[in-house]
Amino acid sequence: MSMCLCCGPASLSRRGLFATALAAAAVPAWGQVQPKSAGAAAPGLIDDLVAANRILYDQGVVDGFGHVSVRHDKEPDRYLLSRSMAPALVTVDDIIEYDLDSNPVDPKGRTSYLERYIHGEIYKARPDVVAVVHSHSPAVIPFADTDVPLRPMNHIAGFLGPGAPVFEIRDTGGPATDTLIRNASLGHALAATLGGHAIALMRGHGSVAAAQSIRHVVFRAIYTEVNARMQAEAMKLGTPKFLNAEEAAGASKANDALVDRPWALWKQRAMGKA
Ligand code: MN
Repeated sequence: MSMCLCCGPASLSRRGLFATALAAAAVPAWGQVQPKSAGAAAPGLIDDLVAANRILYDQGVVDGFGHVSVRHDKEPDRYLLSRSMAPALVTVDDIIEYDLDSNPVDPKGRTSYLERYIHGEIYKARPDVVAVVHSHSPAVIPFADTDVPLRPMNHIAGFLGPGAPVFEIRDTGGPATDTLIRNASLGHALAATLGGHAIALMRGHGSVAAAQSIRHVVFRAIYTEVNARMQAEAMKLGTPKFLNAEEAAGASKANDALVDRPWALWKQRAMGKA
């Protein structure tokens, strides 16, 4: 019998499951669950979230698709994410507050990303995570779709030292999903695959990055894509020599103290184009 540590035993009787489904269905009959707001987030946090959207587009990590979120600075059970739109066009007015079940607090008629559960479920599983990026950045996907692991090629990608596990959606969703993380159950499974890592790849889809701040997660998302390009090039030449665990950990620690430097450059470039 399977057991999920977060959700309790997966052994409800048929009748129990039916009653649970009825109870769950009864709530939305009066409208969607409307969580209470945690209040206004720090303006600097919202500004960084808008900049992160623009930077990730400018650096080729997101295109018309992909998203970046941040945990609310006043309430750890809330996060902030743009309404469903192309990241390069996001402004302050597009940011929506969500609870960790990914219900919007006050959507004001704005549409939510289908895959917002990626963010809510990672925040639930990882109290240390403050920001999350989901993208389909193209150089990474070959490592999700083959048995070649993504590994750190140079010091800038030291955060890849512990590895980048691959999420197989068929294990949870069966063989006929559209590969999208459309509900909390798939998000929960993705967060479980991520575990304590910085990056998880999603077979047939893309990747997620998690970190302790917006600036750190943008850094990781950008350099995951760069590392994937480097690794593919190196493998054409021969067998790459990757950073070992100690080198990767040391480099990652050093880089974590320096993320403001590339952030300033990326932000000036990306916001200048807005
Ligand atoms: Mn996606």
